[in-house]
Amino acid sequence: MTMSCHGLGVSASRSVAVGPAFIMSRRAYSATPGAIAPEAIAAELARLDGALEGARAALRAVRQQVPVPTPLSIADLIDTHILMLDDVALVDAARELIRQEACSAEWALERQRDALIRVFDAMEDPYLRSRRHDVDHVVLQIQSQLRGEGQPDLLDGQDLSGWVVIAEDLAPADAILLGQRGAIAFVTEHGGPMSHTAILARSLNIPAVVGVHRATDYFRHGETVVVDGTTGAVLADLDPATLAHYHERIHALEERRAALQRTAHRPSVSLDGIPIALHANLELPTDAPVARANGAAGVGLYRTEFLYMNRTDLPDEEEHLAAYLEVVEGLAGIPVTIRTLDLGVDKQVDTVGAHCPPACNPALGLRAIRLCLQEPELFRPQLRAILRASAFGPVRLMVPMITSVAELEGVLALIASVRHELTAEGLAFDAALPIGGMVEVPSAALCARALARRLDFLSIGTNDLTQYTLAVDRMDDSVSYLYDPIHPAVLRLIRLTIDAGQATGTPIAMCGELAGDARYTRLLLGMGLRELSMQPGALLDVKEIVRQSDISVLESRVAGLFDRLDETDAGRLVEEINGGLHPA
Ligand code: PEP
Ligand code: MG
Repeated sequence: MTMSCHGLGVSASRSVAVGPAFIMSRRAYSATPGAIAPEAIAAELARLDGALEGARAALRAVRQQVPVPTPLSIADLIDTHILMLDDVALVDAARELIRQEACSAEWALERQRDALIRVFDAMEDPYLRSRRHDVDHVVLQIQSQLRGEGQPDLLDGQDLSGWVVIAEDLAPADAILLGQRGAIAFVTEHGGPMSHTAILARSLNIPAVVGVHRATDYFRHGETVVVDGTTGAVLADLDPATLAHYHERIHALEERRAALQRTAHRPSVSLDGIPIALHANLELPTDAPVARANGAAGVGLYRTEFLYMNRTDLPDEEEHLAAYLEVVEGLAGIPVTIRTLDLGVDKQVDTVGAHCPPACNPALGLRAIRLCLQEPELFRPQLRAILRASAFGPVRLMVPMITSVAELEGVLALIASVRHELTAEGLAFDAALPIGGMVEVPSAALCARALARRLDFLSIGTNDLTQYTLAVDRMDDSVSYLYDPIHPAVLRLIRLTIDAGQATGTPIAMCGELAGDARYTRLLLGMGLRELSMQPGALLDVKEIVRQSDISVLESRVAGLFDRLDETDAGRLVEEINGGLHPA
């Protein structure tokens, strides 16, 4: 049988794998409602406590197996899962249900899990929403203890060399362990492009396809499957010729990757001598070494949301500073663009929710810079830390989700007051610290001149710009067929922003996913962009295109494109611009 899913999240790692399917079905235990005798309540509570203890021991054992240099803080995530075993909202609430409703521990846990997941699902921030999986994983652990199964099967040390793991879902720790055991690809039924499995697969360069509904039912254990991380297809029942084709592709991709790696430190300059700054996007400080290995000339987007995740308190100034210095000092000498908080946080999200009727759209609500301006005690420690980090190396500050000049002026006033404060306290910072804003909503692109006049740089965030221009939720699978970053409307807004940069002498960068897609590098160069920031794994592919491009030719090709944008398929126009060049 053959099945495929759309490419969202799948192209996280543009690689391909062929191997036997290892079906890892751990269908969540579905408890049935059932009363227990009132005199059995105490024993049921003790049973739950025993299961919690067992789950704690199992997770600690997993934690010890996590290799020290992992691309993500997996150990921290497992610690978080261990902490969740004591979580009031999960465990105490389940205890209360057992007491009040005289139900089984399994049933109480399942009800509480569903209640918490509903809260996470309602969150607008994709990262926070993906935290629902943590609740799921922790409950699964406890339930497997309640059933007396001990650790789930995948932790039993089985050698998975050469196998393609097909699972309902994978916890980050599972993904690491499976990778260590030799798994060559992951396919999951759940999870989006922001899921940890996808992020991990991207940093490990393991092909992964997520969101393949019912994959564990459709594929058979042991049958040969192809996981095509470039298209998001998972294929089975292939004839020998097709299989041979995929084996050849894998071989070619491996050779290409090795060859590209040897070019990591070649300059990023076009054929006609124009330097193009290729920068890295960092999700976590631990991404910095990959950025360096792939020759990043700077960090164009250091997302700081990780500082607020998996915790109930807020990070303080010193914690911010330590996270920034880890990157600034680790990448000594290259500019690091630190983006201020881009989400609604813990209780702020709850507070916002309380004022927001159920029908309101959180993507249009109190988020990112809007939230920061309303909650200065949330924002000030971050601003102070970014400024203080600038005393240790080249730092740039970038503000997300700007929608108007008035809002920007509010931010600039706050930054000015933080500067005065630091000066008064005798704390060092770079007085010339560049301040930039992201162009992520149509209003910012349409008012880009006014914004550019007040800022040192702008960076186009195409992920959100596409979402807001086309009214397509970037996380919603059901409308992903409409999500098109090269839609004429999006391209026109990009063009407006670049024009505003040229008119005001303000550098314009791009840091959305579009910037790291080598198919569009020539389009972006031809439109006038000279700084592109992307996930570190894309740097070498994009640089190869830069080095093979004559920008003066591209500029004239692109000039003719805008007249035909509405009449011709954008994909065809891009092919014309690429002039027969087919990046892998
Ligand atoms: C964007 O919106 O393009 C962007 C880079 O920001 P994020 O993906 O973090 O929203
Ligand atoms: Mg964004």
